Amino acid sequence: MSIVFANNVDISLRIKYNKNMNDELKNLVKDLGILVSVPSVSSSSLPHAPFGEENRRALDIFLSRAAALGLKTGEDDGYAGWAEYGNGELRVGILAHLDVVPAGDNWTTSPYELSIRNGIAYGRGVSDDKGPLLACLYAMARLAEEKYKLRGRVRLIAGCNEEEGSACIKHYVSHCEIPRASFTPDSDFPVTASEKGIAHIRVTLPYCSETASSLIELSGGMRPNIVPDHCRAVIRAGSDAALRTPDSSPGSDVVIIKNGVPAHGSTPEKGDNAIIKMLPLLAGLLPGDTGLRAAAKLFSDLDSPARLGLGGSDVTGKTTLNVGMCGLENGRIVLTLDLRLPARYSCADVTDALRAAMPPETAVDVLHSAPALVHDENGPLVRTLMDVYRKHTGDLSTEPLHIGGGTYAKELPGCVAFGAVFPGTETHMHEADESYPVDDMKRLIDIYHDAIIALDSME
Ligand SMILES: [Zn+2]
Repeated sequence: MSIVFANNVDISLRIKYNKNMNDELKNLVKDLGILVSVPSVSSSSLPHAPFGEENRRALDIFLSRAAALGLKTGEDDGYAGWAEYGNGELRVGILAHLDVVPAGDNWTTSPYELSIRNGIAYGRGVSDDKGPLLACLYAMARLAEEKYKLRGRVRLIAGCNEEEGSACIKHYVSHCEIPRASFTPDSDFPVTASEKGIAHIRVTLPYCSETASSLIELSGGMRPNIVPDHCRAVIRAGSDAALRTPDSSPGSDVVIIKNGVPAHGSTPEKGDNAIIKMLPLLAGLLPGDTGLRAAAKLFSDLDSPARLGLGGSDVTGKTTLNVGMCGLENGRIVLTLDLRLPARYSCADVTDALRAAMPPETAVDVLHSAPALVHDENGPLVRTLMDVYRKHTGDLSTEPLHIGGGTYAKELPGCVAFGAVFPGTETHMHEADESYPVDDMKRLIDIYHDAIIALDSME
């Protein structure tokens, strides 16, 4: 595979280095500038580039930089690549990713051009996950430079499709070597000890002729895992439903808009869901639609998991449910749900409960699911990484995290999320002006360098 990356010299020249940066940090920042310049958003597959040309380009850059830093490299046919140091048993794995989410609008800098302002690096991927990935690469390069004698090998696996389903690491897991113990720098510090399970479910309500003939449009939400802040319905002029609206004027369609407040789908209590405000209103206008009435009742507030008999909790917290999207398909109302589940509930429990709660002829389809991941807080993996974190930061009070969001760690056996965002740091991941403090990148190299040594010697 040829290695082509345009204009990387120009890219590095535009970065202003701070005086206090050592050469290691300068080189990392330069490589980050090169990687950020690649808009590695997953796209249609090409030979040896299952996630498109740009993701392939990011992978080639990673592999060539790793080789230049004295590390062995390999790849899983464009799904993922790796850099390796040491010999013998594959004792330590690091899982990071090269793909990014689309830039979106409202950036104050150019998203695919690394810029540094007041010691903060800006650009798509600087915190998720190109910066942390490079910090791990430089931690390994430092071990190589020191000729550090590890007991076994350490492998940094660079996936190319984390943001759109992690097909990269799924492929890797079924084709390549699994490290004995791994961490992923794709979450927060200190250690994410447990993550809820995830179920994305499509609920298609039964066909109702009144709804099919009266409802011209129903749209709300962009993704299952975001609390929708906008929902819009259009009702046909002259229909019974239109006549039921207080301000209908004859001859014109009735447009109904509901607004809310966005939030991450794993924390629906932090947002205000525009779709669940729309449902009861529509149910009132379309009284013949029993499916709509049932959905409006079931999903009316944050207690819907309890109504489904999924109200229990464990160390990961309570079940949450976000109605993330709604739409119309062939006259039928479709709702897309994002549930986050304590370890005691499976995705099948969710589909069973939904089928039982909704009228017959409701279609319930699983779009995506992942089981909960629970690491023993007092087990060697979590303890070892917590010790490294505490030694470097002096932060003895922050305990291991338990989150509703899913991390990359779920995809690789024996993997736990460790960093790379320090407590209290705002990085605007997945948003405009994604950022990461440059000095923290140096701390990352130190921490990951010692984490590799600690996991390598862990019994
Ligand atoms: Zn990520």
